[in-house]
Amino acid sequence: MTKTASNGNITKQAKSIIPSAGYAATSTGQDSQDSQAMMQKLLHWAAVIESSDDAIISKSIDGYITGWNAAAQRLYGYTAEEVIGKPVSILMPPERIDDFPMIMNQLKAGKKIDHYETRRKTKTGRIIDVSITVSPIKDAKGNLIGASKIARNIADRKQDERRRDEFVSTVSHELKTPIASQKIYGELLQQQIDKDGLGQYQTLIKKMNQQTIKLEKLVNDLLELSQLHMGRIKLEPQEFELSQLVSDIIEPIQSTSTHKIVNQTKKPTLITADRDRIGQVIANLVSNAVKYSPHPAKIIIATKAEPGQVVVSIQDFGIGIDPEYSQRIFERFFRINGEDETTYPGMGIGLNVSAKIISLHQGKIWVESQAGQGSTFYFSLPSSRKTRSEGQGR
Ligand code: ADP
Repeated sequence: MTKTASNGNITKQAKSIIPSAGYAATSTGQDSQDSQAMMQKLLHWAAVIESSDDAIISKSIDGYITGWNAAAQRLYGYTAEEVIGKPVSILMPPERIDDFPMIMNQLKAGKKIDHYETRRKTKTGRIIDVSITVSPIKDAKGNLIGASKIARNIADRKQDERRRDEFVSTVSHELKTPIASQKIYGELLQQQIDKDGLGQYQTLIKKMNQQTIKLEKLVNDLLELSQLHMGRIKLEPQEFELSQLVSDIIEPIQSTSTHKIVNQTKKPTLITADRDRIGQVIANLVSNAVKYSPHPAKIIIATKAEPGQVVVSIQDFGIGIDPEYSQRIFERFFRINGEDETTYPGMGIGLNVSAKIISLHQGKIWVESQAGQGSTFYFSLPSSRKTRSEGQGR
């Protein structure tokens, strides 16, 4: 291929990536050094984008595709000619169509979307796992004029994760039965020892039974985590009173803790959700608040009604979290490796399970914290459409 032919080729590619390159390339009258340098720069960047292994797409502010590189064609199957001018929603499977307003709202707020894992649809209708990063494109005055998106195929990684989940699920299932038997025999033994007044064995059997309960919880947590990630957990929504649930959950935690757990949730707060699962989230957050507050202090649980949603907060005055980790703590198996944190037992599962449960309810979970100053965890849930009076009136 000659140099001219190669440049011509890149100029054609440049048009599908940088729309303005098309005009620059044909404006033969402009031969000033400046415009030549600009053209070289454009061609250089067009070549960089075109040879990228990641799909790079640009779109207008109203969501129409304006640029498409070769890797985008390899990933989605469409040529640039086929998709430029089409809405980005053609790449979204029906269950991910909500990605569009979510991404646009983030961009309008001037925020970038980093490594967001989602699914997309190819030209043939195949659904693929992708990780996308979307950044706002602004004009010289700083006005938002569009967005650039980098998409990466993560099918192999997802396949590995699914295999791992399947393995963890099988192992946990296998462990459940012997642990349950061990628990029953331990309890029977404890009853017998209590009955026979064998005082010297009472402490030993009690400790053994406590360890069995811990083991049972670990295995249940692992099983639950893998089931959640494999999408095998179905919610069973019902309408319930949130402050009653909070009381039910904190009672057993309070009985074994020196912290003062204060329930400030407003009554009545009606929610339509899976009561057991929301209870599990509250239990996880309150247990963490106790665990990561070495000096017994207050733990406050409160609710705030907002339009269309209820926000629940769990505040502690413990070791706190460096804002650097405020997103990562919700990742699977993530634990902060600081001097303080490593002294507390845990597997880095609870917050990930909680985040999955809240996301299944179309809610959000987040934390506000500073290291050394305690943390407040929040989660939001859509509020019940049926009000209390409507419910009683029927
Ligand atoms: P685990 O507590 O078992 O490690 P989690 O998923 O519940 O797992 O929490 C992940 C990490 O987030 C913890 O290891 C800890 O570093 C941090 N963390 C969670 N809750 C708190 C809290 N209330 N205060 C300080 N750090 C917390």
